[in-house]
Amino acid sequence: MKIAFIGLGNMGGGMAANLVKAGHSVHAFDLSADALDAAKTNGCTPFTDAGEACAEVEAVVTMLPNGGIVKSVYEGSVIGTAPAGAVLLDCSTIDVATAKETIAAAENAGYAMVDAPVSGGIAAANGGTLTFMVGGSEEAFERAKPVLEAMGKAVIHAGDAGAGQTAKICNNMLLAITMIGTSEAMKMAEKLGLDPQKFYEISSQSSGYNWSLNAYTPLPGVGVESPADKDYQGGFATALMLKDLRLAMEAAENSDAPVPLGARAASLYEDFAGAGNGGLDFSAIIKTYK
Ligand code: NAD
Repeated sequence: MKIAFIGLGNMGGGMAANLVKAGHSVHAFDLSADALDAAKTNGCTPFTDAGEACAEVEAVVTMLPNGGIVKSVYEGSVIGTAPAGAVLLDCSTIDVATAKETIAAAENAGYAMVDAPVSGGIAAANGGTLTFMVGGSEEAFERAKPVLEAMGKAVIHAGDAGAGQTAKICNNMLLAITMIGTSEAMKMAEKLGLDPQKFYEISSQSSGYNWSLNAYTPLPGVGVESPADKDYQGGFATALMLKDLRLAMEAAENSDAPVPLGARAASLYEDFAGAGNGGLDFSAIIKTYK
């Protein structure tokens, strides 16, 4: 297929390269000249105008920083510019309301479109092992699926337009809560004189079992190897976790959903990021438990 790819940053760069590896012809656009150069090295055809990149393609993939940018790119360069019949896939993490509005605008103009945010970080984007949670009609999902399969290990239809973003922010709100809960329990066990490794061995095989403890242990030298063992470098940045928590809080307010623990987690991550830790892996929040 001929596919336009807009937004070739940390995530989009590797995703576009995997589309090339799968045999697709990728028309790449990014505001950054460096990102475009890297895409060219990976076999993409660079374009200096988003609209030109979208002309004559069968699919458009976007991987952009936020909802405002996604809205302006679709309104300004994709809808009405990509050929009628193209399938549009926004893989960015954005607010549910903008995802629904953008899909409605695309459908009104005759396109099939999905929101398809990802789970998995830069390594999964580079390795083609992302999980995609997809919102949109059955027809749009079926058309988007082969494009997504070239970039991921799992492609799941979550429901109607916006359901992908809903799944993503609810999942990451749960992740923030379990990471904070795991950190509290580990540090309290330590204060009470229990060896953290013993706590890990017991709790990871008991009812305290959870992904943050078992697969991403936040204390260095305890449990599985994780960003904690690399001084909290790499992994999933606190700033990105905070972005997702803010989106979750916005969605909770719009839907009148009670989220007392989610709100507390968001406020703890606000403080942690505000203290200059935005670049550290989100599991570094355990450092606040002295
Ligand atoms: P990034 O900042 O590295 O990349 C974004 C790219 O978009 C940049 O290259 C930027 O130049 C480009 N861009 C910005 N405005 C543009 C415009 N108007 N037209 C064209 N290009 C434009 O960000 P990222 O880490 O690649 O994240 C992208 C999306 O993926 C975000 O929504 C993020 O929340 C989500 N995400 C990131 C991760 C991660 O680990 N980095 C994990 C899951 C989801």
